[in-house]
Amino acid sequence: MENASNPRIQAIQTIQGRQPRKISLPADESGKPLRVSEYYGQNTFHLEQMKQKLPKDVFQKLVATVQAGRKLDSEIAGPVANAIKEWALEHGVTHFCHWFQPQTGLTAEKHDAFITFDDSMRIIEKFSGSQLIQSEPDASSFPSGGMRTTFEARGYTAWDPSSPVFIMESTNGKTLCVPSVFLSYHGDSLDEKTSLLRSMEALSREACALLEQLGEKGVKRVLPTLGVEQEYFLIDRALACLRPDLIMTGRTLLGGQPPKGQQLEDHYFGSIPARVQAFMSEVELELHRLGVPSKTRHNEVAPSQYETAPIFEEANVAVDHNQLTMEVLRKVALRHQYQVLLHEKPFAGVNGSGKHCNWSMSITASSTELDGDNLLDPGKTPHENLRFLAVLVSVLKGVHEHAGLLRAAIASSGNDHRLGANEAPPAIISVFLGDLLSRILDEIEKGAGKERGAEAALIQLGVSKLPEVMRDNTDRNRTSPFAFTGNKFEFRAVGSSASPAFPVTVLNTVVGQGMAEVRARIKARIDAGKPRDAAVLEVVREVVIETKTVRFEGNGYSEEWVAEAARRGLLNLRKTPEALAQLDTDGARKVFQAMGVLSGAELQSRSHVRLERFIKNLQIEVDTLRQMVDTQVLPAGHAYHGKVAGQVAAAKAAGVVAPQAESLSQLGSILQGVAIKRRDLEKAVAEVDARTSEEEKAKGLSGPVSTAMIELRRACDELEGMVADDQWPLPKYREMLFIS
Ligand code: ADP
Ligand code: MG
Repeated sequence: MENASNPRIQAIQTIQGRQPRKISLPADESGKPLRVSEYYGQNTFHLEQMKQKLPKDVFQKLVATVQAGRKLDSEIAGPVANAIKEWALEHGVTHFCHWFQPQTGLTAEKHDAFITFDDSMRIIEKFSGSQLIQSEPDASSFPSGGMRTTFEARGYTAWDPSSPVFIMESTNGKTLCVPSVFLSYHGDSLDEKTSLLRSMEALSREACALLEQLGEKGVKRVLPTLGVEQEYFLIDRALACLRPDLIMTGRTLLGGQPPKGQQLEDHYFGSIPARVQAFMSEVELELHRLGVPSKTRHNEVAPSQYETAPIFEEANVAVDHNQLTMEVLRKVALRHQYQVLLHEKPFAGVNGSGKHCNWSMSITASSTELDGDNLLDPGKTPHENLRFLAVLVSVLKGVHEHAGLLRAAIASSGNDHRLGANEAPPAIISVFLGDLLSRILDEIEKGAGKERGAEAALIQLGVSKLPEVMRDNTDRNRTSPFAFTGNKFEFRAVGSSASPAFPVTVLNTVVGQGMAEVRARIKARIDAGKPRDAAVLEVVREVVIETKTVRFEGNGYSEEWVAEAARRGLLNLRKTPEALAQLDTDGARKVFQAMGVLSGAELQSRSHVRLERFIKNLQIEVDTLRQMVDTQVLPAGHAYHGKVAGQVAAAKAAGVVAPQAESLSQLGSILQGVAIKRRDLEKAVAEVDARTSEEEKAKGLSGPVSTAMIELRRACDELEGMVADDQWPLPKYREMLFIS
């Protein structure tokens, strides 16, 4: 007998009637389908279109501005704004906004209509140069970690011309979005984007200087490149709506394990369900029209888990495009009656979601051209090989010296559930290089060919054979947080819901610092009379030895690695509070200042904002769990207990043996267990509430409070296993994960 008034059972019935959502695909007048290349970028105003719409001199100035990574000069802002406005109006756009990335990890926008009164009080559409360049949102409620109160009450947003403007479509209208940075009036960075751009500048500067030291003159710009793999879960909206935890926190705080999880490994790369496929196609269509080069899609390891990845782009554009990807995933999911879960760990017991940041550096003539020379590509000549080694050890140096910063950059309440949970890289930052490269570095360490000169050494090392072998780099290590994969590094420990901006900012900064160090040492040797190649090789060797402890080729999920890492003196910062403390060190301040990426106050604001967010997220989780237990779990348990008790009493009255007697006593003790754990949570929370410092609160929440939450959950999950299925109000794991 199914309880038809149970909303959970109604939701399952609703889902059974769902069909894949059909949309009309782009076609020409005769109905012939368009190719992607024919509508790609339709909703963005990129340089190619600007060229057609702008006077030649204005266009040239704009290109120069973009290439130099500078702010737009007010002299050309007027004509550029006008061209953008005309283009937008042709596309039916009514509003514009500065689209920026405050330190919430999300994007923010405030819309203004184009309309204004002209001199004779008639309505016209207008978009001035100053509106394009700058805007002043009333941004006092964005997190600033104390920055604005220290310096200035308000901030402003400014167009970042290196990222093209785009049109966001919604059901009944369109908005022009102007990708912007967000600054205080003193120029302090209040957002994620400013520091990213500064770190790109720093990396470019240091890379060019290193190249010059290596004898490569005249390189003006090196751009970090980024390709972001985005993992997510997709579950039916009818079920998600019945889970207060998913709605409020993005993850399930309760829920018993299903009989089948991911142990059959039948989901990974399996065929994509029809409704999901329809969803993905619409996501890709929107992304392509926005000029986001979405490329791959597939199932991931856990049931109902998927991944999408674009073709890599210059880092700041890739960051914007990842934000757009997350936004489009969320929006399109709702149209398909799905809820997308970007949280790092929506379900206990199955894999969590990450955001692999594929990163490299490219010598480019312009920011629109990324087929430039990849600095992590070993190349064909001995010189290119030597350059590769110098760059590689610069990366090793940066990561080795500042592993704590990289760990801090990926710290969040969501990622705490993922790192080190035998599914994702551990919280220990190490570098995986693969067999071949490791062997070469080991040979270098042993001093191979030292006597016969650099050229001979390279040949002896087999470095000149690098390119071919690299391209066939098959020994991937999935358990490493930072792995070399042929001609790029893959920073895998980034959380799925996080903006890649800060992790990439830190990476650019520490590698920039590594390059500065390597260059200085080479220079000192050359100044002392050493031939260049020999000097380079010597420094490479020195750094290989210094950074050896950060290299790890084995299984990062194993207990042995945790012990080994401790012996090596590597940091193992398991939880966010400890990780964030790394931002508050002299070493951190020094490197961010030296590279010109963040001032001391700006850095402090990063750690404050993140710690505050961590505390708030956990408090929301605690409150949600309390409410669910008090208003759903316990009432369902008591109601069912009452029902069974009634049956037992009736049997007794009739003088027969009640078959439910055993269940009743078991239920009684489980309910008691829930009540006890519920009180324990209360105690743990009260103890933490009494703490005065934010750091101590955060530690308490990530320690005793989290433990109490897990124990309460265990008791509730046990209850779920006892209550009659049609009396349980919350959608179960087997339903959320397997009904789609
Ligand atoms: P995987 O096997 O990990 O899926 P792929 O070769 O498919 O690796 O690449 C994953 C991501 O790495 C893609 O987004 C791709 O565009 C990106 N990528 C490839 N080359 C580079 C590079 N030089 N710099 C940055 N990202 C890159
Ligand atoms: Mg990958």
